[in-house]
Parts: sequence; C-alpha cells; structure tokens
Amino acid sequence: MLMEKDDKNKCSGSGSGATDGTGSSRTGTLYVCSTPIGNLEDVSFRLKRILEEADIIAAEDTRTTLGLLARYSIRKKKLISYHDHSGKTRIQKIMESLREGCNVALVSESGTPSIQDPGYSLITACIENGLSVTVVPGPNAAISALVLSGLPADNFFFAGFLPRSAAKRKSKLAELSRLSCTMIFYESPNRIKKLLAEVLEIMGSRKAALARELTKVFEEVIRGKVQDILAGINDRTVKGEIVLVVEGSSAGTDAGTGDGASLTEKEIKEELALLVRNGMTKKEALKDMRARYDIDRQKLYNISTKIRVKEGEKERNND
Ligand code: SAM
Repeated sequence: MLMEKDDKNKCSGSGSGATDGTGSSRTGTLYVCSTPIGNLEDVSFRLKRILEEADIIAAEDTRTTLGLLARYSIRKKKLISYHDHSGKTRIQKIMESLREGCNVALVSESGTPSIQDPGYSLITACIENGLSVTVVPGPNAAISALVLSGLPADNFFFAGFLPRSAAKRKSKLAELSRLSCTMIFYESPNRIKKLLAEVLEIMGSRKAALARELTKVFEEVIRGKVQDILAGINDRTVKGEIVLVVEGSSAGTDAGTGDGASLTEKEIKEELALLVRNGMTKKEALKDMRARYDIDRQKLYNISTKIRVKEGEKERNND
C-alpha cells in the first residue's frame, strides 16, 4: 500500500528492531541511496537489499520509485514522499521513525540524493541529532559525465545548475573562469546553447564535453572546443538530460580558494570590467566581488576607480 500520510510508525522486526537484544533501545539508520540515472539495471545488490529491508522509503518522486521497486519485485511497504517542499515537520517525522528503530532509505528521482536533489536538510538534521546515517553509493550524472568527458578527472569542481538570473550566471562563470580544474555543470536542454555561448564569452575557447542521456538509449557525448560543440548543435533541437564538462583555465587557481589576495590588480580590474559589461553597476560589481573574494575593501575600491563605467561597454564593442 502506498503510504503518503504520516501515520504512527512503530518498527518491529525487519532487521532494524527497536531493541538490540539486550533490552536497551536502538535507533534506526538513514540510508542515503543512489538510484539509476536512466538505466534501471544500474542497481547494486546492496541497494536492492536495502530497499527490500528498509521499513520506510522516503522518495522524492514516489511514482519513479514505484517503477524501480516494480522492476525488482520489491514489496512497496511504506513509501512516503520527501521532496524540496517537504518542510521541517516531515524531517521531524522521519527522525521520529528513526528514533523508534525504523530504518529509512532515502532516494531521489534519480542519481544521488542531495546532489542537486533533496536530501541535504534531512541528512544534516539527522547528523546534528546524533542519528545514524550511511550511504549506499551508486549512479551520479556528474561523475559519469566527468569520466566520459576525456578531461582531467583528478581535480574538478561541481558547479551544478547555475542561477537563473543572467547577471548572477555571468558573475558565477566569471568567478569559475579562474579555476584550473575541470568544471561540471548541470543544464536543461532548453538552456544548453545559452550556457555554451556564455562559457565561450566569459571563459574563452576551451575544451569541453556535452554528455546527454547517459546510460539511456540515446546516450551521446560531444567532445571538442566549446565553440565547435555550439556550432554542432546550433541547428538541432537538443533533448534529454545534459551535463556540460568544461576544461579548467591554464593560468587558473585551485577550486575554492576565494582568495582575493592572490588576484593581481589586472585580474581584479578585468573581472570588475566584465561584470559591468554584463549589466551590473559599478557599485553592484564591487559588492559582488567582495562577496566572492576575500579582497580588502579599500584595495578593491582603489582599483575600481581606475576603470571607467564606460570601459566595460567599450570592451563589449570591441569583442
Ligand atoms: N541527483 C542527480 C545526480 O546524482 O546526478 C542529479 C539530479 S538533477 C535534478 C537532474 C540533472 O542531472 C539533469 O538536469 C542533468 O543535468 C543531470 N542528469 C541526470 N541524469 C542524467 C543523464 N542520464 N544524462 C545526463 N545528465 C543527467
């Protein structure tokens, strides 16, 4: 029976139990389970067993999960929804079940929960409350695309989906353009051409790989320079799920430094000019740079006085 409401859940037996045989109470475990990103055969023996044995399956999309359970003839047991809009009450209920000794399997619509999918809030709440959390590793679109990209996989940055607002996207790309490691982006088919154009504009000509429909019938990986990939798909309708992998900068820094002290005056000036060119006021650009880098306020201001507001526009006209 599909359970959508939070009725009282007492777990007895099924391996979890409310006691450990010594009479003392034992809590359940939250299993963070990766599920297929397309091909339903990408299920490990362990995932199948955990889904069979869990007292509760908390799923982002119960219909998708029902399909997976049916494929492996797993009894539906207690399936509840846990998605982006599940509030604190749902988290509290799941933690209550864990405290009662229930084992809970957390699954998202596809791939790894918490990776651009629901999971983070529940996982951190369980950790903060001393509840047992473990992982059942498996499919993930970012890692799959990275290994197929042919780009260095020893050091990479997962950018996920960029913000929707044009100014924020460009600001993020400007920040990432300095990284020397490979970068991974998730993008929808409707916006992939736009993203490629933005990457080209802001990061310049780089190697990249567009990985589409991984593990599915129409799996495709297009490798080449960003501009060539863009030209190659310009006249066609791109469908399906997509990951874009982009080569790091040859003159870049490591991911996650955010260290403004390592930026040269020229780099700061160029980035400010780029932000202005992309539509920010100088004041907004300064605020944006301060939020992203640990740069001395006065130093940043002094440099900003050396770019004229028109400079960005002048550069745009010369592009
Ligand atoms: N949790 C998932 C994971 O571990 O990869 C990601 C979920 S996120 C909501 C969905 C995005 O992941 C898609 O828009 C696409 O960028 C990427 N994605 C998921 N499945 C994919 C596939 N089979 N091929 C290419 N990209 C995929």
